[in-house]
Amino acid sequence: MASPGLTKLGIKMTPTLLKFKFFKGLIKSTIYNHFCGGEIIQDADLTAKKLQRHGIGVIMDYGVEGLVGEEAFDSTTQTFIETIHFAQKRDYIPFISVKITGFARHKLLQKWHLGKSLTPKEQEEKKRVIERINKICEAGANNNTKILIDAEESWIQKPVDELAFMMMKRYNQEKVFIYNTYQLYRHDRLEFLKANHTQAQEQKFILGAKLVRGAYMEKERARAEEESYESPIQTDKASCDRDFDQAVEYCLNNLDSLSLFIGTHNEKSCMLAAQQMHHHGIAKNSDRVYFSQLYGMSDNVSFNLASEGFNVSKYLPYGPVADVIPYLMRRASENTSVAGQTSRELSLLKKERKRRQKL
Ligand SMILES: Cc1cc2nc3c(=O)[nH]c(=O)nc-3n(C[C@H](O)[C@H](O)[C@H](O)COP(=O)(O)OP(=O)(O)OC[C@H]3O[C@@H](n4cnc5c(N)ncnc54)[C@H](O)[C@@H]3O)c2cc1C
Repeated sequence: MASPGLTKLGIKMTPTLLKFKFFKGLIKSTIYNHFCGGEIIQDADLTAKKLQRHGIGVIMDYGVEGLVGEEAFDSTTQTFIETIHFAQKRDYIPFISVKITGFARHKLLQKWHLGKSLTPKEQEEKKRVIERINKICEAGANNNTKILIDAEESWIQKPVDELAFMMMKRYNQEKVFIYNTYQLYRHDRLEFLKANHTQAQEQKFILGAKLVRGAYMEKERARAEEESYESPIQTDKASCDRDFDQAVEYCLNNLDSLSLFIGTHNEKSCMLAAQQMHHHGIAKNSDRVYFSQLYGMSDNVSFNLASEGFNVSKYLPYGPVADVIPYLMRRASENTSVAGQTSRELSLLKKERKRRQKL
């Protein structure tokens, strides 16, 4: 993954090569095992138990993407509900994560996003999407498992925000069960977060705010250029970092009426959040603040935060190898950067190994 050329080639060739059994085996024993917990939930649970020994929880993430058809959508919904029941008996699985695209047709979401009028058949389809997310969130609330609703590409994000808002209003009355995701690489999201918080206060529910920088930057920029509209992405990394840290600060200042989930591998952002918690006298294990990194990334951040007593959970995807490929491709492309967190983590590991060899 440290070689951008090889990673690009791998991303291009993988869907075709997956037809060959040996290649599937190769993927499984390398990138899949690094970033995923297992093909079935029981395997992922073994990984979760290892993390639990170090005070780290997991967010069970049924990582299957790209399935289509009403039958597949119903089956994915059922899997999310089964995952909730599985998590309910295990206190080291406080969350599950949900992707709306796992049970809603992309083209429908795009039309819904644009506010175009839907045909009667599409209206029915939309109703089924609402029923599916409601079933999942209701199961979460009834089984004391929190639900993180992932953020997606900006051209389908409006329905995701609408559904998340509807669910937070319904289930976040006394306690926070549902979190929406705010991508701070978008220049409009800090304001959107604040507006959502105000609306939540007016409508008397507790906001669940999962903050991330955002995973689709190149795709977003390319589409904006191709279709000649202003890119929703910040002009540079510094602006993205500034908004992310300001969003964390805003949430920490308003913990009486929201719950915060900090999804980042960025050491500086984690350090800043930890310092601000200390400054505000917020308990490290307050159930209003969670830190999270993806499984297979930034263990140096996760393990240090957990050993200091903060709430830490790793995003742990599971599912059949072929079905989690889109997730793995995103991880591969974001980890090619030499300046990225993974290269930094690798250099720390090498340094530590050398230190131990000298002992
Ligand atoms: C627990 C968890 C859950 C996540 N859930 C989601 C989700 O639901 N939806 C989603 O989209 N992503 C999600 N992500 C991925 C996340 O959005 C980032 O892609 C990833 O974490 C890298 O950002 P960072 O803060 O960890 O690290 P950093 O290395 O500090 O930041 C890298 C990120 O900065 C941004 N960036 C880089 N260069 C520029 C630039 N020139 N201009 C503007 N911005 C720039 C990009 O977002 C890039 O991914 C999740 C990540 C975690 C850890």
